[in-house]
Amino acid sequence: MTHFDLETIAKRANGPVYVYEASKIHSQYQRLKNAFSGVAQLKINYACKALSNISILKLMQNMGSGLDTVSIQEVQLGLEAGFEPADIIFTPNGVSLGEIETVAKMGVQINIDNLSILEQFGTKHPKVPVCIRINPHVMAGGNSNISVGHIDSKFGISIHQIPHVLRIVENTKMHINGVHMHTGSDILDIEVFLHASEILFNTALQFKDLSFIDFGSGFKVPYREGDIETNIEELGEKLANRFAEFCKTYGKTLELAFEPGKFLVSQAGYFLTKVNAVKQTTSTVFAQVDSGFNHLIRPMLYNSYHEIVNISNPEGRERFYTVVGYICETDTFGSNRKIAEISEGDVVAFKNAGAYCFTMASNYNSRFRPAEVLWYEGQAHLIRKQETFEDLLQNQVLIDFKEKVEA
Ligand SMILES: *Cc1c(COP(=O)(O)O)cnc(C)c1O
Repeated sequence: MTHFDLETIAKRANGPVYVYEASKIHSQYQRLKNAFSGVAQLKINYACKALSNISILKLMQNMGSGLDTVSIQEVQLGLEAGFEPADIIFTPNGVSLGEIETVAKMGVQINIDNLSILEQFGTKHPKVPVCIRINPHVMAGGNSNISVGHIDSKFGISIHQIPHVLRIVENTKMHINGVHMHTGSDILDIEVFLHASEILFNTALQFKDLSFIDFGSGFKVPYREGDIETNIEELGEKLANRFAEFCKTYGKTLELAFEPGKFLVSQAGYFLTKVNAVKQTTSTVFAQVDSGFNHLIRPMLYNSYHEIVNISNPEGRERFYTVVGYICETDTFGSNRKIAEISEGDVVAFKNAGAYCFTMASNYNSRFRPAEVLWYEGQAHLIRKQETFEDLLQNQVLIDFKEKVEA
Protein backbone atom coordinates (compact mmCIF):
# COMPACT_ATOMS: atom_id res chain seq x y z
CA MET A 1 0.00 0.00 0.00
CA THR A 2 1.78 3.12 -1.16
CA HIS A 3 -1.14 5.32 -2.16
CA PHE A 4 -3.51 6.77 0.39
CA ASP A 5 -5.88 3.83 0.62
CA LEU A 6 -8.44 4.28 3.35
CA GLU A 7 -10.17 0.99 2.73
CA THR A 8 -7.03 -1.05 3.31
CA ILE A 9 -6.36 0.86 6.53
CA ALA A 10 -9.94 0.24 7.65
CA LYS A 11 -9.68 -3.48 6.87
CA ARG A 12 -6.43 -3.81 8.81
CA ALA A 13 -7.87 -2.05 11.83
CA ASN A 14 -9.87 -4.23 14.11
CA GLY A 15 -12.62 -1.66 14.66
CA PRO A 16 -13.28 2.01 14.00
CA VAL A 17 -10.17 4.03 13.22
CA TYR A 18 -9.14 7.65 12.80
CA VAL A 19 -6.74 8.37 9.94
CA TYR A 20 -4.81 11.62 9.50
CA GLU A 21 -3.05 12.73 6.37
CA ALA A 22 0.26 14.40 7.31
CA SER A 23 0.63 16.12 3.94
CA LYS A 24 -2.70 17.93 4.42
CA ILE A 25 -1.63 19.20 7.84
CA HIS A 26 1.60 20.38 6.29
CA SER A 27 -0.09 22.13 3.37
CA GLN A 28 -2.51 23.93 5.71
CA TYR A 29 0.43 25.07 7.83
CA GLN A 30 2.24 26.34 4.73
CA ARG A 31 -0.91 28.06 3.53
CA LEU A 32 -1.19 29.97 6.78
CA LYS A 33 2.48 30.89 6.70
CA ASN A 34 2.23 32.09 3.12
CA ALA A 35 -0.92 34.08 3.84
CA PHE A 36 0.93 35.97 6.58
CA SER A 37 4.28 36.16 4.82
CA GLY A 38 4.02 39.95 5.07
CA VAL A 39 4.47 39.71 8.83
CA ALA A 40 8.08 40.19 9.95
CA GLN A 41 7.78 37.95 13.00
CA LEU A 42 5.06 35.35 12.72
CA LYS A 43 4.42 32.62 15.26
CA ILE A 44 1.93 29.81 14.72
CA ASN A 45 1.03 27.93 17.88
CA TYR A 46 -0.97 24.82 17.14
CA ALA A 47 -3.99 24.59 19.49
CA CYS A 48 -3.55 21.00 20.47
CA LYS A 49 -6.93 20.42 22.07
CA ALA A 50 -8.13 19.84 18.50
CA LEU A 51 -5.99 16.73 18.13
CA SER A 52 -3.46 15.92 20.78
CA ASN A 53 -1.82 12.65 19.81
CA ILE A 54 1.89 13.06 20.58
CA SER A 55 2.91 12.01 17.05
CA ILE A 56 0.75 14.83 15.69
CA LEU A 57 2.42 17.20 18.16
CA LYS A 58 5.82 15.98 17.00
CA LEU A 59 4.81 16.53 13.38
CA MET A 60 3.79 20.10 14.25
CA GLN A 61 7.07 20.66 16.00
CA ASN A 62 8.99 19.40 12.96
CA MET A 63 7.13 21.88 10.78
CA GLY A 64 8.27 24.71 13.04
CA SER A 65 5.01 25.26 14.89
CA GLY A 66 4.70 26.26 18.53
CA LEU A 67 2.02 24.87 20.80
CA ASP A 68 -1.10 26.37 22.36
CA THR A 69 -2.30 24.48 25.41
CA VAL A 70 -5.26 24.72 27.76
CA SER A 71 -4.29 22.29 30.53
CA ILE A 72 -1.15 21.26 32.34
CA GLN A 73 -1.59 17.81 30.79
CA GLU A 74 -1.45 19.29 27.30
CA VAL A 75 1.74 21.12 28.33
CA GLN A 76 3.21 17.80 29.49
CA LEU A 77 2.21 16.10 26.23
CA GLY A 78 3.93 18.91 24.34
CA LEU A 79 7.13 18.46 26.33
CA GLU A 80 6.89 14.70 25.80
CA ALA A 81 6.64 15.29 22.04
CA GLY A 82 9.81 17.40 22.13
CA PHE A 83 8.64 21.01 22.35
CA GLU A 84 10.81 23.42 24.31
CA PRO A 85 8.91 25.16 27.13
CA ALA A 86 9.59 28.47 25.37
CA ASP A 87 7.61 27.24 22.35
CA ILE A 88 4.50 26.56 24.41
CA ILE A 89 1.81 29.01 25.46
CA PHE A 90 -0.67 28.13 28.18
CA THR A 91 -4.12 29.67 27.63
CA PRO A 92 -6.40 28.11 30.19
CA ASN A 93 -9.76 29.25 31.49
CA GLY A 94 -10.97 28.66 34.99
CA VAL A 95 -7.96 26.69 36.22
CA SER A 96 -6.43 27.10 39.66
CA LEU A 97 -3.66 29.55 40.50
CA GLY A 98 -1.60 26.51 41.49
CA GLU A 99 -1.81 24.99 38.01
CA ILE A 100 -0.78 28.30 36.42
CA GLU A 101 2.16 28.60 38.81
CA THR A 102 3.34 25.07 38.08
CA VAL A 103 3.21 25.66 34.33
CA ALA A 104 4.99 29.03 34.68
CA LYS A 105 7.77 27.31 36.63
CA MET A 106 8.30 24.96 33.67
CA GLY A 107 9.25 28.02 31.60
CA VAL A 108 6.05 28.09 29.56
CA GLN A 109 4.48 31.42 28.53
CA ILE A 110 1.32 31.89 30.52
CA ASN A 111 -1.79 33.72 29.50
CA ILE A 112 -4.18 34.92 32.20
CA ASP A 113 -7.83 35.73 31.54
CA ASN A 114 -9.09 36.62 34.98
CA LEU A 115 -8.47 39.71 37.14
CA SER A 116 -8.39 37.85 40.43
CA ILE A 117 -5.79 35.35 39.24
CA LEU A 118 -3.81 38.13 37.54
CA GLU A 119 -3.58 40.05 40.79
CA GLN A 120 -2.60 37.01 42.85
CA PHE A 121 -0.05 35.84 40.29
CA GLY A 122 1.45 39.31 39.86
CA THR A 123 1.74 39.77 43.61
CA LYS A 124 3.57 36.48 44.10
CA HIS A 125 5.65 36.38 40.90
CA PRO A 126 6.16 39.92 39.61
CA LYS A 127 9.17 38.89 37.52
CA VAL A 128 7.39 36.23 35.44
CA PRO A 129 6.13 37.75 32.16
CA VAL A 130 2.43 37.27 31.59
CA CYS A 131 0.17 37.61 28.58
CA ILE A 132 -3.38 38.78 29.18
CA ARG A 133 -6.41 37.49 27.38
CA ILE A 134 -8.80 40.24 26.38
CA ASN A 135 -12.45 39.87 25.55
CA PRO A 136 -13.11 42.44 22.82
CA HIS A 137 -16.86 41.69 22.92
CA VAL A 138 -17.09 41.04 19.23
CA MET A 139 -19.33 38.23 18.11
CA ALA A 140 -17.82 35.85 15.62
CA GLY A 141 -20.04 33.13 14.23
CA GLY A 142 -23.43 32.17 15.56
CA ASN A 143 -22.94 29.10 17.75
CA SER A 144 -23.03 30.20 21.39
CA ASN A 145 -21.18 27.07 22.51
CA ILE A 146 -18.14 27.99 20.50
CA SER A 147 -18.44 31.79 20.35
CA VAL A 148 -16.38 33.08 23.21
CA GLY A 149 -16.16 36.82 22.60
CA HIS A 150 -19.63 38.00 23.57
CA ILE A 151 -20.45 40.17 26.58
CA ASP A 152 -21.41 37.41 28.99
CA SER A 153 -18.75 34.98 27.87
CA LYS A 154 -16.64 33.36 30.60
CA PHE A 155 -13.52 33.93 28.49
CA GLY A 156 -11.08 36.79 28.69
CA ILE A 157 -10.82 40.01 30.63
CA SER A 158 -13.36 42.53 29.39
CA ILE A 159 -11.84 45.51 27.58
CA HIS A 160 -13.93 47.61 29.95
CA GLN A 161 -11.76 46.27 32.77
CA ILE A 162 -8.44 47.37 31.29
CA PRO A 163 -8.18 50.23 33.79
CA HIS A 164 -8.30 47.60 36.53
CA VAL A 165 -5.59 45.57 34.79
CA LEU A 166 -3.40 48.66 34.59
CA ARG A 167 -3.93 49.27 38.30
CA ILE A 168 -2.85 45.69 39.08
CA VAL A 169 0.24 46.07 36.89
CA GLU A 170 1.16 49.31 38.58
CA ASN A 171 0.65 47.91 42.07
CA THR A 172 2.45 44.61 41.54
CA LYS A 173 5.11 45.84 39.08
CA MET A 174 4.42 42.74 37.04
CA HIS A 175 5.45 42.48 33.39
CA ILE A 176 2.78 42.08 30.71
CA ASN A 177 4.58 40.82 27.60
CA GLY A 178 1.64 39.93 25.39
CA VAL A 179 -2.01 40.64 24.70
CA HIS A 180 -4.30 37.98 23.33
CA MET A 181 -7.80 37.44 22.06
CA HIS A 182 -9.64 34.38 20.84
CA THR A 183 -13.09 35.44 19.81
CA GLY A 184 -14.64 32.14 18.84
CA SER A 185 -14.43 29.31 16.42
CA ASP A 186 -15.72 30.86 13.20
CA ILE A 187 -14.25 33.89 11.46
CA LEU A 188 -16.70 34.34 8.63
CA ASP A 189 -16.34 38.02 8.14
CA ILE A 190 -12.85 39.47 7.82
CA GLU A 191 -14.08 42.97 8.59
CA VAL A 192 -15.46 41.75 11.92
CA PHE A 193 -12.12 40.16 12.72
CA LEU A 194 -10.23 43.29 11.76
CA HIS A 195 -12.58 45.32 13.93
CA ALA A 196 -11.74 43.08 16.90
CA SER A 197 -8.05 43.49 16.02
CA GLU A 198 -8.37 47.26 16.31
CA ILE A 199 -9.67 46.80 19.83
CA LEU A 200 -6.70 44.59 20.59
CA PHE A 201 -4.28 47.20 19.15
CA ASN A 202 -5.85 49.90 21.29
CA THR A 203 -5.41 47.71 24.32
CA ALA A 204 -1.83 46.89 23.35
CA LEU A 205 -0.89 50.57 23.27
CA GLN A 206 -1.53 50.76 27.00
CA PHE A 207 1.21 48.24 27.79
CA LYS A 208 4.71 49.52 27.20
CA ASP A 209 6.75 46.34 27.26
CA LEU A 210 5.04 43.88 24.93
CA SER A 211 6.84 41.37 22.78
CA PHE A 212 3.85 39.79 21.03
CA ILE A 213 0.20 40.12 20.11
CA ASP A 214 -1.80 36.91 19.82
CA PHE A 215 -4.89 36.90 17.61
CA GLY A 216 -6.10 33.47 18.68
CA SER A 217 -7.92 31.52 16.06
CA GLY A 218 -11.34 30.95 14.59
CA PHE A 219 -10.31 30.13 11.03
CA LYS A 220 -13.27 28.38 9.52
CA VAL A 221 -12.78 25.41 7.23
CA PRO A 222 -15.43 24.04 4.86
CA TYR A 223 -17.35 21.00 6.11
CA ARG A 224 -19.62 20.69 3.13
CA GLU A 225 -19.83 21.93 -0.40
CA GLY A 226 -20.73 25.59 -0.53
CA ASP A 227 -19.56 26.30 3.04
CA ILE A 228 -18.04 29.70 3.64
CA GLU A 229 -14.37 29.39 4.45
CA THR A 230 -12.21 32.05 6.07
CA ASN A 231 -10.33 33.77 3.28
CA ILE A 232 -6.99 33.66 5.07
CA GLU A 233 -5.09 35.05 2.10
CA GLU A 234 -7.17 38.23 2.20
CA LEU A 235 -7.03 38.33 5.99
CA GLY A 236 -3.26 37.79 5.89
CA GLU A 237 -2.66 40.65 3.54
CA LYS A 238 -4.91 43.11 5.37
CA LEU A 239 -3.77 42.20 8.87
CA ALA A 240 -0.07 42.14 7.92
CA ASN A 241 -0.32 45.69 6.60
CA ARG A 242 -2.24 46.91 9.59
CA PHE A 243 0.12 45.13 11.98
CA ALA A 244 3.19 46.73 10.40
CA GLU A 245 1.54 50.11 10.78
CA PHE A 246 0.70 49.34 14.39
CA CYS A 247 4.29 48.30 15.15
CA LYS A 248 5.47 51.67 13.86
CA THR A 249 3.06 53.45 16.17
CA TYR A 250 4.09 51.20 19.03
CA GLY A 251 7.76 51.86 18.31
CA LYS A 252 8.88 48.23 18.21
CA THR A 253 8.48 45.21 15.93
CA LEU A 254 6.31 42.77 17.81
CA GLU A 255 5.64 39.14 17.07
CA LEU A 256 2.23 38.30 15.63
CA ALA A 257 0.90 35.00 16.93
CA PHE A 258 -1.99 32.74 15.96
CA GLU A 259 -3.35 29.59 17.54
CA PRO A 260 -5.11 27.57 14.89
CA GLY A 261 -6.50 24.17 15.77
CA LYS A 262 -9.26 23.22 13.37
CA PHE A 263 -7.62 24.94 10.41
CA LEU A 264 -4.52 22.78 10.63
CA VAL A 265 -6.05 19.37 11.28
CA SER A 266 -9.77 19.20 10.49
CA GLN A 267 -9.58 18.34 6.81
CA ALA A 268 -6.64 15.99 7.30
CA GLY A 269 -8.78 13.57 9.29
CA TYR A 270 -11.06 10.70 8.30
CA PHE A 271 -13.03 8.54 10.67
CA LEU A 272 -13.58 5.07 9.25
CA THR A 273 -16.15 2.62 10.47
CA LYS A 274 -17.98 -0.41 9.19
CA VAL A 275 -21.72 -0.57 8.60
CA ASN A 276 -23.21 -3.18 10.92
CA ALA A 277 -26.74 -3.14 9.61
CA VAL A 278 -28.96 -1.48 7.08
CA LYS A 279 -32.39 -1.09 8.61
CA GLN A 280 -35.49 -0.05 6.78
CA THR A 281 -38.34 1.51 8.74
CA THR A 282 -41.60 2.84 7.41
CA SER A 283 -40.04 6.14 6.37
CA THR A 284 -36.28 5.86 6.56
CA VAL A 285 -33.33 3.70 5.62
CA PHE A 286 -30.87 3.66 8.50
CA ALA A 287 -27.24 2.74 8.05
CA GLN A 288 -26.08 1.64 11.49
CA VAL A 289 -22.35 1.94 11.91
CA ASP A 290 -19.97 0.23 14.30
CA SER A 291 -19.52 3.41 16.34
CA GLY A 292 -21.51 6.16 17.99
CA PHE A 293 -21.20 9.55 19.62
CA ASN A 294 -18.75 7.93 22.00
CA HIS A 295 -16.26 8.22 19.12
CA LEU A 296 -17.49 11.29 17.26
CA ILE A 297 -19.72 13.57 19.27
CA ARG A 298 -19.71 16.73 17.15
CA PRO A 299 -22.91 16.00 15.20
CA MET A 300 -24.87 15.40 18.43
CA LEU A 301 -23.13 18.09 20.50
CA TYR A 302 -22.84 20.94 18.02
CA ASN A 303 -25.12 19.79 15.25
CA SER A 304 -22.03 19.75 13.04
CA TYR A 305 -22.08 18.39 9.56
CA HIS A 306 -19.55 15.73 8.59
CA GLU A 307 -19.70 14.49 5.04
CA ILE A 308 -20.14 10.72 4.93
CA VAL A 309 -18.96 8.65 1.99
CA ASN A 310 -19.10 4.94 1.26
CA ILE A 311 -15.51 4.04 0.43
CA SER A 312 -16.33 0.40 -0.24
CA ASN A 313 -18.68 1.26 -3.09
CA PRO A 314 -17.71 4.76 -4.23
CA GLU A 315 -19.23 4.36 -7.69
CA GLY A 316 -22.51 2.91 -6.42
CA ARG A 317 -25.88 4.41 -7.20
CA GLU A 318 -26.68 7.11 -4.67
CA ARG A 319 -29.51 6.55 -2.23
CA PHE A 320 -30.72 8.36 0.87
CA TYR A 321 -29.62 7.15 4.29
CA THR A 322 -29.78 8.31 7.84
CA VAL A 323 -26.49 7.28 9.39
CA VAL A 324 -26.72 6.35 13.06
CA GLY A 325 -24.57 4.63 15.65
CA TYR A 326 -24.89 1.80 18.13
CA ILE A 327 -25.29 3.86 21.31
CA CYS A 328 -28.42 3.15 23.32
CA GLU A 329 -29.87 6.58 22.83
CA THR A 330 -30.29 8.69 19.76
CA ASP A 331 -26.95 9.15 18.06
CA THR A 332 -27.46 10.45 14.57
CA PHE A 333 -24.39 11.23 12.50
CA GLY A 334 -26.31 12.52 9.52
CA SER A 335 -29.95 12.58 8.44
CA ASN A 336 -31.21 11.92 4.97
CA ARG A 337 -27.80 11.86 3.31
CA LYS A 338 -27.20 10.96 -0.29
CA ILE A 339 -24.58 8.21 -0.16
CA ALA A 340 -23.43 5.60 -2.68
CA GLU A 341 -25.45 2.43 -2.07
CA ILE A 342 -24.50 0.84 1.24
CA SER A 343 -24.33 -2.88 1.94
CA GLU A 344 -23.75 -4.33 5.38
CA GLY A 345 -20.00 -4.61 5.95
CA ASP A 346 -19.13 -1.59 3.82
CA VAL A 347 -16.76 0.96 5.27
CA VAL A 348 -17.95 4.54 5.49
CA ALA A 349 -15.67 7.53 6.00
CA PHE A 350 -16.56 10.67 7.91
CA LYS A 351 -14.68 13.67 6.60
CA ASN A 352 -13.28 16.63 8.54
CA ALA A 353 -12.55 14.21 11.36
CA GLY A 354 -9.21 15.68 12.36
CA ALA A 355 -10.33 18.33 14.84
CA TYR A 356 -12.32 17.80 18.04
CA CYS A 357 -13.18 14.24 17.11
CA PHE A 358 -10.80 11.75 18.70
CA THR A 359 -9.98 14.22 21.49
CA MET A 360 -13.64 14.27 22.51
CA ALA A 361 -14.07 10.50 22.34
CA SER A 362 -15.21 8.63 25.44
CA ASN A 363 -15.85 5.12 26.70
CA TYR A 364 -19.62 5.54 26.88
CA ASN A 365 -21.43 2.20 26.61
CA SER A 366 -18.11 0.69 27.72
CA ARG A 367 -16.73 0.77 24.22
CA PHE A 368 -13.05 1.07 23.41
CA ARG A 369 -11.77 4.34 22.05
CA PRO A 370 -10.57 3.84 18.48
CA ALA A 371 -7.10 3.51 17.01
CA GLU A 372 -5.39 6.42 15.28
CA VAL A 373 -3.26 6.16 12.16
CA LEU A 374 -1.02 8.78 10.59
CA TRP A 375 -0.54 8.56 6.85
CA TYR A 376 2.97 9.91 6.44
CA GLU A 377 5.24 9.70 3.37
CA GLY A 378 3.34 6.92 1.69
CA GLN A 379 2.89 4.75 4.74
CA ALA A 380 0.32 4.12 7.43
CA HIS A 381 1.77 4.55 10.93
CA LEU A 382 -0.20 3.38 13.91
CA ILE A 383 -0.03 6.27 16.39
CA ARG A 384 -2.54 4.97 18.91
CA LYS A 385 -3.69 1.45 19.51
CA GLN A 386 -7.34 0.70 19.96
CA GLU A 387 -8.13 0.28 23.64
CA THR A 388 -8.56 -3.12 25.17
CA PHE A 389 -10.74 -4.57 27.89
CA GLU A 390 -7.82 -4.12 30.32
CA ASP A 391 -7.90 -0.38 29.58
CA LEU A 392 -11.56 -0.24 30.53
CA LEU A 393 -10.83 -1.90 33.85
CA GLN A 394 -7.58 -0.03 34.46
CA ASN A 395 -8.59 2.33 37.22
CA GLN A 396 -11.71 0.62 38.44
CA VAL A 397 -11.66 -0.92 41.87
CA LEU A 398 -13.78 -3.97 42.52
CA ILE A 399 -14.90 -4.01 46.12
CA ASP A 400 -14.93 -7.31 47.90
CA PHE A 401 -18.38 -7.21 49.54
CA LYS A 402 -18.32 -9.46 52.57
CA GLU A 403 -22.03 -10.11 52.70
CA LYS A 404 -24.69 -10.29 50.11
CA VAL A 405 -26.59 -6.99 50.07
CA GLU A 406 -30.16 -7.71 51.10
CA ALA A 407 -32.75 -6.80 48.53
C1 LIG B 1 -9.70 26.13 21.06
C2 LIG B 1 -8.80 27.27 21.03
C3 LIG B 1 -8.14 27.61 19.85
C4 LIG B 1 -8.33 26.87 18.55
O1 LIG B 1 -9.55 27.13 17.92
P1 LIG B 1 -9.86 26.54 16.48
O2 LIG B 1 -11.21 27.01 16.15
O3 LIG B 1 -9.78 25.05 16.56
O4 LIG B 1 -8.83 27.04 15.54
C5 LIG B 1 -7.26 28.67 19.88
N1 LIG B 1 -7.04 29.37 21.03
C6 LIG B 1 -7.67 29.07 22.17
C7 LIG B 1 -7.38 29.86 23.39
C8 LIG B 1 -8.56 28.02 22.22
O5 LIG B 1 -9.19 27.74 23.36
